[in-house]
Amino acid sequence: MTTTCSACGWPLHELPATSTHHTSQGLLHYRRCVCGTWQVLLDDHPLAAPTPATPPSPAP
Ligand SMILES: [Zn+2]
Repeated sequence: MTTTCSACGWPLHELPATSTHHTSQGLLHYRRCVCGTWQVLLDDHPLAAPTPATPPSPAP
């Protein structure tokens, strides 16, 4: 599986790991994409994208 930036599609594996943290869930990596977007990966799996400011309202 190729992990790419959700904003520009740049392969995250080519980005240097800016910060790495050991957590109870695994290795947490922070990488900064060439487009300026921060990418957070847990054991090389991207975490969920930031939630939208306003969730979609359910249809009546
Ligand atoms: Zn990007």
